[in-house]
Amino acid sequence: MAKKISLFECQACGYQSSKWMGKCPNCEAWDKFLELNSTQREVLKETAKKSTTKTAAIPITEVKEEQFQRFSSHDCELDLVLGGGVVPGGLTLIGGSPGVGKSTLLLKIAGNLAKNGKKILYVSGEESLGQIKIRANRLEANHKNLYLLSEIKLAQIFSELGKNSYDTLIVDSIQTLYSEKLSSAPGSVSQVREITFELMRHGKENDLAIFIIGHITKEGSIAGPRVLEHMVDTVLYFEGDSNRELRMLRAIKNRFGSTSEVAIFEMTKEGLTSAKDISKKFFTKNSSSIGSAITVTMEGSRPIVLEVQALVSESGYPNPKRSATGFELNRLTMLLALLERKLDLPFNEYDVFVNIAGGIKITETATDLAIIAAIISSFRDRPLSKDTVFIGEVSLIGDIRDIYNLDIRLREAKTQGFKRAIVPKLPIQKIDNLKCFEATQVTKLIDWM
Ligand SMILES: [Zn+2]
Repeated sequence: MAKKISLFECQACGYQSSKWMGKCPNCEAWDKFLELNSTQREVLKETAKKSTTKTAAIPITEVKEEQFQRFSSHDCELDLVLGGGVVPGGLTLIGGSPGVGKSTLLLKIAGNLAKNGKKILYVSGEESLGQIKIRANRLEANHKNLYLLSEIKLAQIFSELGKNSYDTLIVDSIQTLYSEKLSSAPGSVSQVREITFELMRHGKENDLAIFIIGHITKEGSIAGPRVLEHMVDTVLYFEGDSNRELRMLRAIKNRFGSTSEVAIFEMTKEGLTSAKDISKKFFTKNSSSIGSAITVTMEGSRPIVLEVQALVSESGYPNPKRSATGFELNRLTMLLALLERKLDLPFNEYDVFVNIAGGIKITETATDLAIIAAIISSFRDRPLSKDTVFIGEVSLIGDIRDIYNLDIRLREAKTQGFKRAIVPKLPIQKIDNLKCFEATQVTKLIDWM
């Protein structure tokens, strides 16, 4: 007789164990372990399966490319980050902190789709229909093809889906839904996973495009959406906090496209709209203040002119403070160590703070040079020339390294009216009205400054 195997799971973070535990070793939550029943274990097994069941190998020349029929969301930024549009049968998870604009964006998209002949079901477990209606009025999303349902029971949602032929389902939010098959509370790992699994199966069978909203808070419930990442087709996360007007929606995973593009939205009176004139949003041309430097970063295929800010101040502590917003702290520490070694600057006696304007997160190293320039500017208390951009990656030995897409970046700098650029290598073709200076060593940068 087969031995009974038990499986327990932390309902806060999804950590699994063969025995019950009082305290989760992963997230340190108390009393969160539940034994999974056979249904839940079945779901786990299913979700772990690979999407293809074929086992025989075939020559690559005979493999047919997957073709996706997409339809536009009628929002150019969302289409960009989705890889060209919405895929019927695809399930997209949209995560972000509360208040960042997830519901606003999806209600607006729902309105767009409804106006263009698609039938949409918007399920909310958070707000009453009246509240959603007020928001829809503001977003101009009213259309008879947009159906609202205030419901948390999964069975009821499926019943509604069976009554009407919808093209798109929007779930706001996954953490509020409840499947009666399981005894655990809404928002628990088991519920979230079971519901997503059932929705996915339904979506694939019926060519229904599904968007689910998942809240991420600083503590604990990060696990909710995170455990879903490997199940769903596309994962998009919001960046930027609710106090700023700009929001970035970044693809973490996309089965139907690349993950290199980022959608940029702007919070306006009409809700979250595609940001116009993106390149003008992340810097102010006439700020020639101390500790501010301009660079050009690539977000997917788009160059974006950015302002980086640094503040260097004498530290009263033996361990000076380092803080970075929108930039990797480890990289900042490395750059400071380099400046200490190569330029004899006593940063061990100074607190250093770095901030990327506009709430954007830098994911590439081409901004190193601008960070260094801003730090030195603040340290020396001298402003940098306001019509200059700094582009280049700095290596551990103090070389300034060549970067990809330098030409595209320089052209963007010129378009935005900059007159000079400090670069690791002169561009092959001269760019009119933009004077480029080559700096191959960090020490050279200081000479120039
Ligand atoms: Zn846990």
